[in-house]
Amino acid sequence: MYYCRVQREACIACGLCQLHAPHLFNYDHAGIAYYQPDHNQGNHPVPSRELAAFKQAQRDCPTGAIKRQNKPYSVE
Ligand code: SF4
Repeated sequence: MYYCRVQREACIACGLCQLHAPHLFNYDHAGIAYYQPDHNQGNHPVPSRELAAFKQAQRDCPTGAIKRQNKPYSVE
């Protein structure tokens, strides 16, 4: 499983991730992206039906701000 967080200080508010994966990414009032399913906590896995969209968003993010790991971010 993939767990995701946007490294928000690296986001340049380009809008690509929501274009590719509108169910996974949203923006705050400044246009900075966050992982929508758990408000960027990184503890809610990417749903299997969204995996292709997630990978495309992560691949195309121009700054590499979309991070993922195989365990929840709450687990050290
Ligand atoms: S694609 Fe990357 S830089 Fe662009 S809005 Fe999403 S997280 Fe931010």
